[in-house]
Amino acid sequence: MKVLLVLYDGGKAAEEEPRLLGTIQNKLGIADWLKEQGHELVATADKEGEGSEFKKHIVDAEVLITTPFHPGYLTKEVMQTAKNLKICITAGVGSDHVDLNAANERNITVAEVSGSNVVSVAEHVVMSILLLVRNYTPAHEQIIGGGWDVAPMARHSFDLEDKVVGTVGAGRIGYRVLQRLTPFDCKELLYFDYAPLPEQAAKAINVRRVESLEEMVSQCDIVTVNCPLHEKTKGLFNKELISKMKPGAWLVNTARGAICDAQAVADAVNSGHLGGYAGDVWNVQPAPKDHPWRSMKHPLGGGNGMVPHMSGTTIDAQLRYAEGTKTILQNYLTGKAQDPANLIVENGDYVSKAYGKRDTKAEERKEEVRTDGKA
Ligand code: NAP
Repeated sequence: MKVLLVLYDGGKAAEEEPRLLGTIQNKLGIADWLKEQGHELVATADKEGEGSEFKKHIVDAEVLITTPFHPGYLTKEVMQTAKNLKICITAGVGSDHVDLNAANERNITVAEVSGSNVVSVAEHVVMSILLLVRNYTPAHEQIIGGGWDVAPMARHSFDLEDKVVGTVGAGRIGYRVLQRLTPFDCKELLYFDYAPLPEQAAKAINVRRVESLEEMVSQCDIVTVNCPLHEKTKGLFNKELISKMKPGAWLVNTARGAICDAQAVADAVNSGHLGGYAGDVWNVQPAPKDHPWRSMKHPLGGGNGMVPHMSGTTIDAQLRYAEGTKTILQNYLTGKAQDPANLIVENGDYVSKAYGKRDTKAEERKEEVRTDGKA
């Protein structure tokens, strides 16, 4: 069996740090294990263009393992060349790099390691909210640059206390973000999601559901995006929706870059309509040098909390998603049923409804994950 791994090149850092498992150097820690069983493993970071290693090896691979941090895009066209492909495993969370409808047509299973990095991302969201609201980054840059001028920094620095924070998507990450915000004594915590949280889970963090997205964003000082990228969320935060946000509000998106219209966000930050934007996900990855999110800046300075795609790939997260990937692969090899929570599509249909399709199985599962108040 041929297993194709498409991961990022960790270079010297991965050679020095074996726990950087999501790299072509350390191969999720599964290289020896697969070799002992006589399987062939190909690991590459070369994924773009017709002559890439990804396009070359997908043709006869039975298993594709890739990561949202450096995804091998499994489009319908690429899938047509993948004659032996049976399962595509996402080492992490978020399988929007796969054409899921095409996977259903071809009966290819798509699974991800649900929950593996949700705390890592939730912590990053809270950090991003704080660094925007407190105007941290320009103040830090001032110090590094040898300066000392308090007033221009304090002018655009506020408390998180008494602000209204809302999440788009109150799943594993969104719920954890709200949970982590409760000690900050925000004025109100809001969420917009298809289905309501179980009463007990909502009560535990004193969160209010708003049934219209426009209504929610117009009430928020801070909006955090924690829903998957699918047909209904692509370009969701466009000029129109952003115009409904309060002047000076902050927007944090660690879900997927393409959920926001890149130019509309940059324009809103540059004009000062948004107090700032932060996140780690980009509509194109790696982001080109001239991407508007690299240079956008609030008129008072700062307002830009962008970093490369890294919130869900802490060392702790890598250990968890590497182990989860191995379990999914082992289940596949031994014919054992996969944990339903990890399945996106299987047997030609959606198992998860987080990608725009609703079904009762997923509805029941949502109750299961959330009733303990932990989501
Ligand atoms: P999850 O537990 O499936 O939660 C996602 C929630 O979003 C679900 O409650 C889903 O509702 C809801 N949703 C779907 N479409 C929506 C819409 N149009 N409006 C409002 N809510 C919507 O997933 P998660 O673990 O929290 O992860 C969320 C996303 O974060 C992932 O899909 C991935 O794109 C991203 N992520 C990023 C990183 C990173 O490193 N930056 C790491 C991990 C994950 P239903 O279930 O009712 O459809």
